[in-house]
Amino acid sequence: MKNIIFISPPAAGKGTQSQMISEKYNIPHISMGSILRNEIKNFSEIGKRIKEEMTLGSLIEDSTIVELLIKRISNKDCEKGYILDGFPRNINQAYIYDKLLDKDNKKIDYIFYLNLDKEEAYKRIIGRLTCNDCQTVYNDMFENTKPKKIGICDKCNGLLIKRKDDSVKIFEKRYQTYLEETEPLIDYYRHQNNYYEIDSGLSKEYTFKQITNIIDNGDLND
Ligand SMILES: [Zn+2]
Repeated sequence: MKNIIFISPPAAGKGTQSQMISEKYNIPHISMGSILRNEIKNFSEIGKRIKEEMTLGSLIEDSTIVELLIKRISNKDCEKGYILDGFPRNINQAYIYDKLLDKDNKKIDYIFYLNLDKEEAYKRIIGRLTCNDCQTVYNDMFENTKPKKIGICDKCNGLLIKRKDDSVKIFEKRYQTYLEETEPLIDYYRHQNNYYEIDSGLSKEYTFKQITNIIDNGDLND
């Protein structure tokens, strides 16, 4: 069984790694965000409840989140395992999830903590620029991904723009939420023998190599 979860600060590459693992091992990548968006889009009972909670500006209840998750992982495509992206987000969710797995005689097989320091996360998000015409992505805070001319696309001379959600204020808020809610999961899981700390500060290839070494050989080296 390959039942995988991540603990990840913003910009550590959780979504990308989930996708790469999903392709290599042929197990589904379950993004909590897209499950929520789908429920809202389909006007399901839960979807209406989520929308209501969101409109009220409150956080979605952990029990609602777990209810949706149970529904999704009982699908046949999850028999050999699955990768959770965006769950658990806090200790309460982790606790409910553990109890639920326990009831079914199941467990989490791999807990990957993608370690990335705040300064690197900041640069990855705040430096990001996208070409308005060809959508090529640049980052002006790293030498090797900087455009040759400031604000201009190397490929098509299009204008490079920053997305609204890449602003400093939104970054600080996201990071703060991570510190308060998600980072405590490290203490919750770190003493289990299926907890692995992965260095996510280099490249996505290097991060992926560490993860596959653990899944294939059970250790971090080679
Ligand atoms: Zn371009």
